[in-house]
Amino acid sequence: MKIDELFALLKRRGILWPSAEIYGGAQGLYDYGPLGTALKRRLEDAWAAWFVGLSHDYYQIQPSELLPEAVVRASGHLENFTDPEIVCESCHAAFRAETVVEKVRPEGVDGLGVEQIREIVRANQLRCPNCGSKELTVPEPFHLMFGVDFGVTGKERAYLAPETAQGSYLAFARMWDVGRHALPLGIGVVGKAYRNEIAPRQVLFRMRAFTQAELQIFFDPSDFRVPFERVADEAVPVLRVDQRTAGEERPVLVTARDLVGSGGLPEFYVYHMVHQYRFLRDVLGYPADRIRYFEKSDQERAFYNRIQFDAELRLDSLGGYKEIGAVHYRGDYDLSRHRDGSGKDLAVTPTGRASLVPHVLELTFGVDRNLWALADVHLGADGDRTVWKLPSYLAPTAVGVFPLIPKAHAEFARTLADTLAAEGIPVQFDDTGTIGKRYARSDEAGIPFCVTVDGGTVGDGPEHDTVTLRVRDTRAQERIPSAALAARIGPALRLPRPRRD
Ligand SMILES: [Zn+2]
Repeated sequence: MKIDELFALLKRRGILWPSAEIYGGAQGLYDYGPLGTALKRRLEDAWAAWFVGLSHDYYQIQPSELLPEAVVRASGHLENFTDPEIVCESCHAAFRAETVVEKVRPEGVDGLGVEQIREIVRANQLRCPNCGSKELTVPEPFHLMFGVDFGVTGKERAYLAPETAQGSYLAFARMWDVGRHALPLGIGVVGKAYRNEIAPRQVLFRMRAFTQAELQIFFDPSDFRVPFERVADEAVPVLRVDQRTAGEERPVLVTARDLVGSGGLPEFYVYHMVHQYRFLRDVLGYPADRIRYFEKSDQERAFYNRIQFDAELRLDSLGGYKEIGAVHYRGDYDLSRHRDGSGKDLAVTPTGRASLVPHVLELTFGVDRNLWALADVHLGADGDRTVWKLPSYLAPTAVGVFPLIPKAHAEFARTLADTLAAEGIPVQFDDTGTIGKRYARSDEAGIPFCVTVDGGTVGDGPEHDTVTLRVRDTRAQERIPSAALAARIGPALRLPRPRRD
């Protein structure tokens, strides 16, 4: 589906809509409706079960979303968290420089200075993407953080967190104290981040308030052992810088072993990359041939990132590959900056080892972007119906319970729905319209199972207390005792977890 069509469907089903819609909406802000809220929560739970579940030494915390100015000064955001902006002097539209140059430079402007961008605009005689005018301003850095007054004096400043990762860096010293004084130590956060984007667009892909799920793993670079052999034979679709330079866009499958051997990447990096890839492919169900790991070059990545591959997914609605996560090896940049900024010595001494400022491996995941991706990939036409083939454990509603004839069968059906809900199964009772219409609605909402209560269920015959269970993806139907439903459905609703090390 194209972006407008997909967004219209998501709005109609009450999954999400623009914030402040009755005022014409607010650019880059979206509200989630009942199904969207439930799906987002399932997605966040799935992320935590998988990534925090990777090790006994990985934890989840919930830091503040407001950061004192000293924090963003030390982190470098106050100085550097900007996007080059170009304004059209004819129609006054403002653009990210990337948008203006994208026709001649599809790889973007990451790492380029404003002078270099100006030269690209000039040399190619680029025009305003809105009105076609050549009257464009010189690119200027535009600040992406939202600053707010803090306290009653009006003298203190705070900032809405531009990324959740800062909360983990700030918590490291405390987590070290309360922990078992060992590295690696993983600190995961699912939280809001805020960026005053110049040009919010593509619905959930460039928002001004959004949810990130990030795991920061603090480690000793001379001693980060992972059970690499367990993933060594797994092939990952990668697009490396040298392939990109040769004009290639399609990834090549390379085994984890070769990414380390001939590929020159550290084992700990590839090990976590494989687990992220498995999450995207096996847990979220993205087709393997739509995923690629896109290596960022020295010029493209932030200077503190030593290695960076973006996890990208090919989306029909957005017409190409889009970043949905990443793996960053950030060195000791973050803790060193906060050591200098706070004056607190953030070096630690793991038992039996030398003192060090830990390095950081960061696994990022855009929650909103992936919610959109789950719709792009799994929601669409299937013969004569529209169906959202969400993995069952992510579905906002697991079971639809339908009385065939509302008057005669509603009482039994309501009791059954209550019983399932009491078992912790998200259930929806629906007695409106024909059974066909109810199936159609539930297919579109991604409900993996439907149960129909009919005359046989409430009668005294051989079908007494049995119901029809219908499976969304195959439309297969079976007759089973109502008391067996929870046991039949339950296993499909359990969130997948990796093997813990
Ligand atoms: Zn213009």
